[in-house]
Amino acid sequence: MFDKVLIANRGEIALRVLRACRELGIRTVAVHSTADRDLKHVRLADESVCIGGPNSVDSYLNVPALISAAEVTDSIAIHPGYGFLSENADFAERVEQSGFTFIGPRPETIRTMGDKVAAIATMKKAGIPCVPGSDGPIGNNNETNLRIARKIGYPIIVKAAGGGGGRGMRAVHTEASLLTAISLTRTEAANAFGNDTLYMEKYLENPRHIEVQVLADEHGNAVHLGERDCSMQRRHQKIIEEAPAPGIDAKTRKKIGSLCAKACRDISYRGVGTFEFLYENGEFYFIEMNTRLQVEHTVTEMITGIDLVKQQLLVAAGEKLSLRQDNVVFSGHAIECRINAEDPENFMPSPGTIKQFHMPGGPGIRIDSHLYSGYVVPPYYDSMVGKLIAHGEDRKSALARMRNALNEIVIEGIKTNVPLHQNLVDDSKFAIGGTSIHYLERKLGIS
Ligand code: ADP
Repeated sequence: MFDKVLIANRGEIALRVLRACRELGIRTVAVHSTADRDLKHVRLADESVCIGGPNSVDSYLNVPALISAAEVTDSIAIHPGYGFLSENADFAERVEQSGFTFIGPRPETIRTMGDKVAAIATMKKAGIPCVPGSDGPIGNNNETNLRIARKIGYPIIVKAAGGGGGRGMRAVHTEASLLTAISLTRTEAANAFGNDTLYMEKYLENPRHIEVQVLADEHGNAVHLGERDCSMQRRHQKIIEEAPAPGIDAKTRKKIGSLCAKACRDISYRGVGTFEFLYENGEFYFIEMNTRLQVEHTVTEMITGIDLVKQQLLVAAGEKLSLRQDNVVFSGHAIECRINAEDPENFMPSPGTIKQFHMPGGPGIRIDSHLYSGYVVPPYYDSMVGKLIAHGEDRKSALARMRNALNEIVIEGIKTNVPLHQNLVDDSKFAIGGTSIHYLERKLGIS
């Protein structure tokens, strides 16, 4: 096992990784920006290094500073968390070339999955169901593009191969707007991602977002850990996630899960990963693979009892998976609410000093958060300040526990989206389960 791991991230996920390292007896190095000296994990880590100014480009995205920090602290491996450099193939490559272990898949895998056209082609070959589409990049010939779209059938969606974070895509409902949509998306993609490659897919009108968690070692073993439903989204940002997905039976889970595990073996995948699907009328359609730990890994941990971060560290250290598919047993239901420092009405970020912080508790409640009374939430980073997770013997009991916990939690000094979550866990359609990716925006009256 690694002697020392550098955690190249901040906030709740840095704390989560630190806790897993501690359990495995691994020493930890926290890196932080000048705005983040008081982060909880920085205080708890064995060592800490300030890597630059508050802006992410100067710190958490500053590759030379991260590599130097690993060198001066004699770190053995680097955990990228999620966001920041976690899906940056060049960073993974630099880490390995500098003699450290990157805790994640091989750089080539990250590169392939980061190009959506290549990812879809790879998955299709591995037998994963994909959205009907252009089967590759589209060119600049208007006639050909019109013909491809007609063949797919409207509505379609034009997407950037290098897109991410819900950007670089445009739904097209009629032929009259196709060519303009292609040219606008191409310009945007070139500016935002430095890559103007586009492709087309059938636009699914009312799907759910269901994703499958996988775990693989470098010795050819891979298992799936079931699925999560992450359909409660605003601007393609997930707000509530749950596992299992309402209405997915054991047979369906086994079928899609086994396909994903097999695909991992086919592509020699290493580490934790997520196959994201849109799910409509009983069918799964692959949209992308995330080659890292996800924010919502917690709900899977709650229903399987498997510590995904510990597993991730073990397989990164070259160990063989100790789990077989039969050892993955699902128990009960788990729901996660992402707690954001933002105005629940207009979603504006709300940084500032935490005057009071009281955690909820009781059976089945888990909090992953770096907050403490007196902590100052800086304005420079993502607004998520924690995750509240409730586990119960079934969905109804998990929801009841979540309702209690949302009533108990006290975060004073900043605004948070707790009121929005309180509203959502009382929503009658959400209580039934299975709402689509558009449900929240329609409820909020913004689509
Ligand atoms: P990103 O990498 O930016 O997250 P994804 O390909 O995962 O992009 O898509 C993000 C979101 O965009 C999906 O969760 C869904 O809401 C919407 N979307 C993507 N592809 C389609 C599609 N073919 N039909 C309908 N909605 C889609």
